Amino acid sequence: MQGLAERYTAVRQRIQHASKRAGRDPAEITLVAVTKTWPAQVILDAYEAGMRHFGENRAEELAEKRPFLEKQLGTDSGIVWHAIGNLQSRKAKIIADQADLFHALDRLKIGNKVSAQLKVNGRQLPVFLEVNVSGESTKSGFICDNWEKDATQTAALRNVAQQINALPGLIVVGLMTMAPWGAPEAEIRSVFRRTTRLARTLQADIETAVPLQLSMGMTDDFEIAIEEGATHVRVGRAIFGDRQ
Ligand SMILES: *Cc1c(COP(=O)(O)O)cnc(C)c1O
Repeated sequence: MQGLAERYTAVRQRIQHASKRAGRDPAEITLVAVTKTWPAQVILDAYEAGMRHFGENRAEELAEKRPFLEKQLGTDSGIVWHAIGNLQSRKAKIIADQADLFHALDRLKIGNKVSAQLKVNGRQLPVFLEVNVSGESTKSGFICDNWEKDATQTAALRNVAQQINALPGLIVVGLMTMAPWGAPEAEIRSVFRRTTRLARTLQADIETAVPLQLSMGMTDDFEIAIEEGATHVRVGRAIFGDRQ
């Protein structure tokens, strides 16, 4: 695929510049290359270009591509598979078996289902809790659109984070959010900033294995997200071009 390596380099440079603007170390930021809809061969090309973190939003695609890549590269290729999309509970087994990180845990019920399978397969799965900070009704995630003023929202999130953390196999590692679609930059920035603050507030209240991380930022807004504290950016189109 022509230009893949160049586009990857360009995205990494943009990450470096954004980190620098924010006085952050770019090494703190994981670039998750979002390969959804692209054939597994494209992931092989991306691997050759140096990418190691791959994001899929549909469980079936992950279940198809991971074994293909393992056949080609072995199981110690260094690839980390990120499941980034919301999950229907009947697909929980796939995620428990195949994902290395899950970014979009948005209901306790899903946590229970995934955990049940983690008990069976003996794996551990770091998870991000998805939070809806923008308040858009079309977005998934635990509702935190007014968390600064509405203490019940923060309490509910704390409660669910503790419950999920206590489930076998699941480790809460951070919060994930999506910016409002097509909103002005100031609004996008505010959603990311408020999500970072929410993570800090939560951190003070719950015990986590690692400092809470932040999965936020996609092709159109990853630099803003980095300036506002993202540790994981999920970038598809800027690396692979428009999806087929
Ligand atoms: C598709 C997708 C992305 C990447 O989107 P781009 O705009 O292609 O960068 C990030 N996160 C999630 C949850 C997605 O579904």
